[in-house]
Amino acid sequence: MKAIVMHERGGPEVLRYEDFPTPEPGPDEVLVRVRASGLNHLDVFTRRGEQGRRVKLPHILGIETAGEVAALGDGVVDLQVGDRVISGPGIWCGRCEMCRAGEENMCVERLIVGVDVHGGYAEYIKLPAYALAPLPESISFEEGAATLIAFGTAWHMLVDRAALSPGETLLVLAAGSGVGMAAVQVGKYLGARIIATASTEDKLARARILGADETINYAQQRRFARAVRKLTDGRGADVVFEHVGTDTWRDSVTTLAIGGRLVTCGSTTGRWGETDLWSLFAKQATLLGSFSSTQANFRTVLQLVSEGKLRPVLDSILPLSEAAEAHRRLEARQVFGKIVLQP
Ligand SMILES: [Zn+2]
Repeated sequence: MKAIVMHERGGPEVLRYEDFPTPEPGPDEVLVRVRASGLNHLDVFTRRGEQGRRVKLPHILGIETAGEVAALGDGVVDLQVGDRVISGPGIWCGRCEMCRAGEENMCVERLIVGVDVHGGYAEYIKLPAYALAPLPESISFEEGAATLIAFGTAWHMLVDRAALSPGETLLVLAAGSGVGMAAVQVGKYLGARIIATASTEDKLARARILGADETINYAQQRRFARAVRKLTDGRGADVVFEHVGTDTWRDSVTTLAIGGRLVTCGSTTGRWGETDLWSLFAKQATLLGSFSSTQANFRTVLQLVSEGKLRPVLDSILPLSEAAEAHRRLEARQVFGKIVLQP
């Protein structure tokens, strides 16, 4: 098969389009013909080898995949060749306390597809049958490949971690990113008042269409805490949706309201941040980490997308062979929503 294969860590140029052995499904596994593969910042970190886990080389990236069942391993009974499917939040043990409690994203044996095993930047991918879900007819392959990470992550952060309530103020940073545009929509669905930040007027206008009530141009007002105070009569934000990291962390903490919660799923501009401890204790604020999503989160967002209540936003669709170019665009943050690769 054709695949984007990484033989070394580094810049986008290490992503080479070449031949690679087609995987063979073992017992309880499924071979999926990939129709669309979504891009994520985790792919960039894995490629560079600077944050997160260092992968074994050669490696194929790609966390989220949509496609059709091409072949079944022994023992798979609930799927058939030709079925439309989408990959879920990963591979987990299914036996530990966390898995039994439905918190698969906290399983210590959990494997991330595209990091710990080969991902979807390829014509075919092999996955355990339980790690796949049927893709409803109303969702295209491209939308399917842009659903799981953005909406599943945003749902887990805002519902399971920050417990966002109707009427609360939610500050969404970098609303033009895949997870940012998902957070605006999930926040709106939950009945929150949304303040969104982005670096261009065009991105802010699109965030308003998705449900943002107020917007802050981050390029003009880098100290956004002041702007948030002005928009909230001095109260601050009840929940801050972080994923930017070093560049925004300081203001994200100081902008919290009394009893506010900051929830983060990423650190695209760097992993270290300065925390105003006075803001933290005097406001009885909470800092929350969040990673990926559970099976239940995944089923919920897939249902809401199929009902049209949440809408994946596609920035662009590129041929698989142009993965390096797609990474350059993502790194330059010249995107609104998700980039999807098509084999
Ligand atoms: Zn487990």
